[in-house]
Amino acid sequence: MKNNKWGYSGNTAPEYWEKLLDEFKDCGGTKQSPINISKSIKKNSLTKIEFWTGIANIRKQNSDNFHVYFVENSHKLKLDDKEYELIQFHFHTGSEHTVNNHQAKMEIHFVHQSEDNNLLVIGVFAELGEKNKTLSDVFLMANHIQLELKELLPKDRSYYTYSGSLTTPPCTEGIKWVVFKKSISIDRLTLQKWEKLLKNNFRPPLAVNGRKIFFKPDI
Ligand SMILES: [Zn+2]
Repeated sequence: MKNNKWGYSGNTAPEYWEKLLDEFKDCGGTKQSPINISKSIKKNSLTKIEFWTGIANIRKQNSDNFHVYFVENSHKLKLDDKEYELIQFHFHTGSEHTVNNHQAKMEIHFVHQSEDNNLLVIGVFAELGEKNKTLSDVFLMANHIQLELKELLPKDRSYYTYSGSLTTPPCTEGIKWVVFKKSISIDRLTLQKWEKLLKNNFRPPLAVNGRKIFFKPDI
């Protein structure tokens, strides 16, 4: 994601990404992310996600539009009998996905990869409320930190899922998305720090184009 070729404002803003470079042409595709989630199909038969547990060793890497947090020890999750390794996570202010046109204050993306190179991204919204100590610890960290990432997940694990893309160039499609319905909370001071650091690093929602969005209640 390190680059000077694309950004979030001016003549490298998201609406121009597909034209900036040949290798970014997928950004003009029909199955792009993020999307606005309005109509979804409830499907109780979808499986629960078995999340990673334990302490993560995290290393920070800065780039122009992002601070990326690489997870250096094994953090596997299981969905539909398939295992995905957590590679990195990062933050967008405000959220990229919207629900009924509501944009959350922040969205965390946990990027996972399976052994056969399929990508799964988990999106978690954060809204103003109580302080989440882990969110401020991540903000304040130097190059390394150890913490429990499950503190960045909502307790209610109801989720939406659909097929989309990376939300940054090259906007590769065929990415499995899981977006939690419930948000975690962030206090105003910590949010203001994140917003100052990241500015508006979100891509606005793209057309759904007939894709099905499924909803799995946490029951
Ligand atoms: Zn992201």
